[in-house]
Amino acid sequence: MEFNTVVGRNLLEEINDVAHEPFLVITMDDLWPIYKKYFEPSTKVIFVESTDKNILDDLILKLNHFSSIIGIGGGQAIDVTKYLSWKMNKPFFQFPTSLSVDAAFGHRSAVRIENVVRYVGWSIPECVFIDLDIIKSAPKKINTAGIGDILCFITGVMDWQYARDKGKLEKQWEYDERLANISLSKAQAVIDEYQEIKEMTDKGIKIMIDALKWGGSSYCSSGWNPRHIEGVEHLIFYSLEYHTKKKFLHGQAVCLGIIIGSMMHNQRSEELKDIINKIGVDVKPESMNTNWHEVKNCLVNLKNFVETSKLMWGISNDYVFNDHFFNDMIQKIED
Ligand SMILES: [Zn+2]
Repeated sequence: MEFNTVVGRNLLEEINDVAHEPFLVITMDDLWPIYKKYFEPSTKVIFVESTDKNILDDLILKLNHFSSIIGIGGGQAIDVTKYLSWKMNKPFFQFPTSLSVDAAFGHRSAVRIENVVRYVGWSIPECVFIDLDIIKSAPKKINTAGIGDILCFITGVMDWQYARDKGKLEKQWEYDERLANISLSKAQAVIDEYQEIKEMTDKGIKIMIDALKWGGSSYCSSGWNPRHIEGVEHLIFYSLEYHTKKKFLHGQAVCLGIIIGSMMHNQRSEELKDIINKIGVDVKPESMNTNWHEVKNCLVNLKNFVETSKLMWGISNDYVFNDHFFNDMIQKIED
């Protein structure tokens, strides 16, 4: 179920001769000045401002005729490209400009419905083109943040095992050792080769792509089972997003969730904090425009948020936070 993916160089130059004409480019306004040189001045472009489902549905009503879509961006442009392709039944090509999230490799689009993320749709790109020079031109902190969508396999599996041990597994998502082990081995590759990732070498990028593809594709191929690829860390991020109404760099906020989630599980938290630090992802709240007060608030309200949003059952449903935990958390992360 993995998407066609090409890793190479000079790939964007070729797309004019490849995409069905007339095509539509979906990107971000801060990226277009970098990439517009590859396109005719008359190219139709949409700048993504939101992933809110209502706003996207309105946008669709205003679009003129086109035959295919080219998505150029990190996360949101990729999700909006998938969503429009699905709603309008048009072929599309993806050009991730960074590795901050696994959005390019999954069938469903992350859209917001009443401020809560929902994964909808069925979009299969003609191809995902990973241009190594485009990826390397993104700020390192955006690329390295992508380890959030990989190391989350570890906390995801912790949550899956926790639900199993508490007899709370969703009956359609029975614990599967094989899936869990594949996930853990992909995350381990990132830990073992952290130097390559920190430096964003070709090898490091390929290791990340391999893991992000697994995260993106195995959700579908395992029967829409997310349990081996995400858990408490994403729920913490969603709660933070919901309660603060702020926008976050996906992988960076997920990394914060990984450290807090592994502390809740009382497993591997030192090791995970260490590797996130070594790779250089800053998880201090002020680095993502939030603060400890807001983080604590999202945690105190985590159980309620997970239950009312009907998200997967795990340690979030059970855990009682206290001052000791919070002091420990702040010390560990600010250290
Ligand atoms: Zn994610």
